Amino acid sequence: MSTVEDKVERVTGVALKRGLFWPSFEIYGGVAGLYDIGPVGVRIKNRIVKLWRDIVIRENDDLVMEVETPIITPEAVLKASGHVDHFTDPVVECMQCHRVFRADHLVEEKLKINAEGLAVNELTQIISTNKIKCPYCDGELGPVTTFNLLFKTIIGPYSGSTGYMRPETAQGIFTSFKRVFESSRESLPLGIAQIGRVGRNEISPRQNLIRMRDFTIMELEFFFDTSQKRNIPWERVEKVKIKVLDLDMKRQGEKPNEYKPHELATSGKVLDEWMAYWMGVSQKFVEKLGIKNSYFEEKSPEERAHYSKQTFDLMVDINGTSVEISGIAYRGDYDLSAHMNATGKDLTVFKRYDTPKTIKKDIILIDKSKLIKAFGERGKSIIEKLSRMTKDELEGIVLSRKAVDDVIIAEYAIINQTEEKVSGERIVPHVIEPSFGVERCFYLSLINSFRIKENRNILSLPPEIAPFDLAVFPLLERQPLIDKSKELVRLVKDSGYEVFYDESGSIGKRYARADEIGIPLAITVDPQTLDDNTVTIRNRDTWEQVRVHVNNILMTLGELLHG
Ligand code: AMP
Repeated sequence: MSTVEDKVERVTGVALKRGLFWPSFEIYGGVAGLYDIGPVGVRIKNRIVKLWRDIVIRENDDLVMEVETPIITPEAVLKASGHVDHFTDPVVECMQCHRVFRADHLVEEKLKINAEGLAVNELTQIISTNKIKCPYCDGELGPVTTFNLLFKTIIGPYSGSTGYMRPETAQGIFTSFKRVFESSRESLPLGIAQIGRVGRNEISPRQNLIRMRDFTIMELEFFFDTSQKRNIPWERVEKVKIKVLDLDMKRQGEKPNEYKPHELATSGKVLDEWMAYWMGVSQKFVEKLGIKNSYFEEKSPEERAHYSKQTFDLMVDINGTSVEISGIAYRGDYDLSAHMNATGKDLTVFKRYDTPKTIKKDIILIDKSKLIKAFGERGKSIIEKLSRMTKDELEGIVLSRKAVDDVIIAEYAIINQTEEKVSGERIVPHVIEPSFGVERCFYLSLINSFRIKENRNILSLPPEIAPFDLAVFPLLERQPLIDKSKELVRLVKDSGYEVFYDESGSIGKRYARADEIGIPLAITVDPQTLDDNTVTIRNRDTWEQVRVHVNNILMTLGELLHG
């Protein structure tokens, strides 16, 4: 196959014909960015989700647990998180046909430069200097503005109660963090995962399932204490190697460097060692999708989301084109602090010291009689004001010699030093977030595994994410062969395998169909089976067949599918 476009066209053809995915609401003309996942597609998608659960949650179940929170989110939550103000993309409108385009993508397509993260005035300037016109009608383009990607709705019958469809599952995790923490081990680190539907009103959805308006996301918010000794289970990623392209290397035009995750942790390239661990886990997951060509690319401050201190996008190379499959962001204490500020609720956790510490404390007392003696009624009013202050506020005023009503309070204060034993302190945990779009994983796995052999389509998906483990076919539509095949289907199903059964049409067509939807093995029951209880097992990728006794079928399937 010559280009990625040819491949995309053929995969899209298979998707429509075989029930993988198609545009939603087609009979009404469809809506850009909305897709249905068909019966075969749902099987693959569910297995991708299972794989992620296995690798991220199950293998790390001493660290990670899963929750489910609502899709509809009240405005106050997304106002505090910054999404109402900052979850925007730049847009430009054609003054003639009034079509609206994503400004940075238009500049990238026309000038072949990276325009991600440029400010609106910079984009307006570039469009005007380079005389970029409307791609549809060649009309003049207006100034670049921003467009908020949140889908808005009303919660209940009251027009004042604005809500949004969540753009990420993360905010539901941050707002329930305290509950999860207190109902579980009450210790850090603590990972909270969520898989669910999100909505982003993308300006120009495109490339099938790559940029959708409504999709499923798999996210982990990993909460940790920055001052705690990192106790990282490196053995879980010991076989993983990751390629990293940091900002400096990108600027110098260098190629990505390869690291073991624990080497990356101490290389100075990541803000925290945990970042390297979760990058390793993410890499492991992508390899299990059958994707071999991938690297982590660091994003510049302009390219990063508003909450991120550092982000690496996990890029996969599909026929020479790099596509982001996941983002790993260091969110620091941004979100928990934002929700604490907005609600006044305490989302800190208590960190107990190994041994209690003795700390010196200043006890500040105001010499009230001295104040009243010096200022009379004014003194009383100052005392009243000081009594409404917190201990910290009063301490700040005294130690920095600030005035209240033109009186330097420090001159009327008595400072006594005492010692206090403290057993711990309250901290705001920091967060690292690996985030994968499920449909993007699904689509990129399809494109990555798609082959053509003798002009026939083959989806060489890894067995773990194939829609079925095996197919069972009677060679001919004869009752004894059908009966034997159904017996075999029951046998393998009872052992937990997912089986595709088909008895009609030529065997060649049935093999072709199984190959096209990625079924790794096909068992055929033929007349010889009735004589000696043997069947053939055909391999999807090599088309080779082996003859196996039915008594050994489960063992052979185990070997062929799981190695
Ligand atoms: P983000 O929160 O923007 O870092 O996105 C996290 C992940 O979600 C990305 O790496 C993609 O896998 C996926 N994703 C983001 N936007 C879309 C979209 N519009 N359609 C499908 N998947 C998306």
